[in-house]
Amino acid sequence: MIGRLVRHDLAARRAEVAEIAELSPRMRRFTLRLAAGSPPVAFERLAVGDHVKLGFPDPTTGKLPLPPEGRPVMRDYSVRAVPDPEHVVVDFVIHGAGPATDWAASATVGSAIGVLGPRGSHILPDDRPRYLVLVDESALPAAARWLEEAPAGASVEVAIEAPDGDLPTLPRRARASVTRVDGTDGAGLAAQLRSWAPRPGDLVWAAGETASMLAVRQTARALGLDADDVDVHGYWKRGVAGRDHHQPLDADAS
Ligand SMILES: Cc1cc2nc3c(=O)[nH]c(=O)nc-3n(C[C@H](O)[C@H](O)[C@H](O)COP(=O)(O)OP(=O)(O)OC[C@H]3O[C@@H](n4cnc5c(N)ncnc54)[C@H](O)[C@@H]3O)c2cc1C
Repeated sequence: MIGRLVRHDLAARRAEVAEIAELSPRMRRFTLRLAAGSPPVAFERLAVGDHVKLGFPDPTTGKLPLPPEGRPVMRDYSVRAVPDPEHVVVDFVIHGAGPATDWAASATVGSAIGVLGPRGSHILPDDRPRYLVLVDESALPAAARWLEEAPAGASVEVAIEAPDGDLPTLPRRARASVTRVDGTDGAGLAAQLRSWAPRPGDLVWAAGETASMLAVRQTARALGLDADDVDVHGYWKRGVAGRDHHQPLDADAS
């Protein structure tokens, strides 16, 4: 594992939408207000992969059973920000169909949701000269965190694989670049990684669709990068609902 892990008590909280912002035609930001007395969502600097499990009400009954009473349909969402102990901010890609995207497309202020976790914060190293960040839209919240939280002297290069259309505005920083690449199979990301010519000690961090992430990981290996310098995560898989991200990237390769 790269970096270090800080464990947290697992909390299941009820929450409601306090605020909605349209970040782009395909991304909506939700500020969720936790029910009174709920434990706050942990937030650690440079734990850019931290995520909560969001639980969605049954679309027919409206019921939202939370552990230990029951278990709703859940999906993973990055902790984009914790502005204060009563709130957490999450950004949703609005894609075709699925319990999470359906909820996000129709939610309004006051809509109910469950917020579980995070179980732990995986804090990434703050001593690298360059952070090479390769993502699709699902990991844009994490990329935004890299731009905000990477150490001041380091540079952050971001490549985004995304369909045509506007992207959300990302945070600005002095030593940074943001590049959009074409495609849906990781070839554009892989080419971008090669063109950055990573040096030993640079950290490559990537998250997005599993096939694209496999291409990124294979390219990192072909470039001879050390395993301690490469951290790649599959956030979803085309054609698979609710994929468990703890599975190896190629576990369900077809
Ligand atoms: C650690 C972690 C952090 C994550 N953070 C975020 C985040 O901050 N914001 C975010 O939007 N997503 C994030 N994701 C991805 C999100 O959990 C998945 O996209 C999830 O599958 C969405 O659930 P759903 O109910 O909408 O679709 P599902 O029911 O899971 O899937 C239904 C169909 O939609 C497809 N699909 C799923 N996601 C996408 C997508 N992004 N684009 C196109 N098609 C898709 C599937 O392949 C499937 O065919 C994260 C995932 C992980 C593991």
